[in-house]
Amino acid sequence: MTSRVLVLGGTGEARRLAAALVDDGVDVLTSLAGRVADPVLPAGEVRVGGFGGAEGLGDWLRAHPVRAVVDATHPFAAVMTASAARAAEATGTPLLRLQRPGWTPQPGDDWRWVGSLREAADAVAGFGSVFLTTGRQGLRAFADLPGRCLVRSVDPPEPPLPARTTVVLARGPFTVGAELALMREHAVEVVVTKDSGGHLTEAKLTAARQLEIPVVLVRRPPLPPGVATAATVEEALAWVAGHV
Ligand code: NAP
Repeated sequence: MTSRVLVLGGTGEARRLAAALVDDGVDVLTSLAGRVADPVLPAGEVRVGGFGGAEGLGDWLRAHPVRAVVDATHPFAAVMTASAARAAEATGTPLLRLQRPGWTPQPGDDWRWVGSLREAADAVAGFGSVFLTTGRQGLRAFADLPGRCLVRSVDPPEPPLPARTTVVLARGPFTVGAELALMREHAVEVVVTKDSGGHLTEAKLTAARQLEIPVVLVRRPPLPPGVATAATVEEALAWVAGHV
């Protein structure tokens, strides 16, 4: 019987998990969606591209049996997470959802929670200079913003974009100093982010606190019911050890 573990990746946690599993001698295959042109590759084997929904992943798991699946995709990769839950149930494959905790406000923060990118766009419509750090996908929701918009993403965003957009191409992690300089340079009045959590991109929150400007945060999508969860790579390693 195979001892292979499938990691659904695209995050720093997925890369750390793959590296630790390879170190432990576990046969790891990481799956990437293929969204980023030049991705940071994890240790172990890698496959790229969608599976074709829950059915496609189910078929894939039947054709390429694995001992367990760890869904370490981004907290906002809700379609993949739902597909993984359905395919794991259909094929009887053990599944763990590895998801880092969301961010929590600190004294001095002015955080405004919203339920979607569309609601975030409504929340910042009255600001003169908006920093959009929600990633390349979903920017369409902000296309009608009248103010200046600073958009940061790893790869160039596709239209439609707000009329007065400046694009900065960059991949985290970012330092607080660099975030402060960028926000000052563009006279940013409000920051928009998903509640991604983690340390790699949290410097913008510290910078916003120091500049005393508000942050609009998009709440995470809910997790599929009944799926085991881990908040850290260490917890995920312990779970895998119990299955391999
Ligand atoms: P999504 O909306 O949940 O998924 C859309 C489709 O992309 C899925 O149905 C699946 O296609 C494919 N897919 C997603 N993750 C995959 C993976 N790891 N391996 C193979 N196929 C995958 O996902 P998304 O938000 O577009 O995210 C895509 C990738 O970017 C993920 O790896 C995620 O971890 C990473 N990421 C996302 C965000 C974000 O804000 N959403 C931020 C940073 C990184 P099929 O249905 O054909 O299988």
